[in-house]
Amino acid sequence: MIIKNEQEMLEAGGKLAQQLQPGMLVFLQGDLGAGKTTLVRGILRGLGHEGSVKSPTYNLVEPYTIKEQAFFHFDLYRLMDVEELEYMGMRDYLNKDSICFIEWPDKGEGFLPEPDLLLDIKIDGSQRELIVSEI
Ligand code: ADP
Ligand code: MG
Repeated sequence: MIIKNEQEMLEAGGKLAQQLQPGMLVFLQGDLGAGKTTLVRGILRGLGHEGSVKSPTYNLVEPYTIKEQAFFHFDLYRLMDVEELEYMGMRDYLNKDSICFIEWPDKGEGFLPEPDLLLDIKIDGSQRELIVSEI
């Protein structure tokens, strides 16, 4: 899927939102500035979230509740050691009810289970290529 601008990335999120089910684990891959956070913003807005969706880079996780469904948005970019995930209680977030989005999932390799959905974004100038894989 070719995404020409930020608006189209938000719209792509709106479409992906329909595929989500309780308990799903979603990985977002792509370089800094690829549009991972923008895509999560599009998904959450598509589900009816009206507040802001900010990058969880500094606090590692941002929680949301939309129509009684819990969502957790992680950004593991700054994670130093995979063991930190244990200390922060990551295991509790990954339950059968919550929907988790994880940016930079490679940083959690060895701890994180396989995702249900993999969203991979490749940068090509101002365009983005979004590759959606259901696992
Ligand atoms: P990431 O979370 O992957 O680091 P962000 O979503 O925070 O990336 O930021 C993506 C940035 O790239 C935004 O500033 C956005 O405006 C810009 N941008 C430019 N072109 C696109 C595009 N085609 N799709 C998504 N974002 C784009
Ligand atoms: Mg981000």
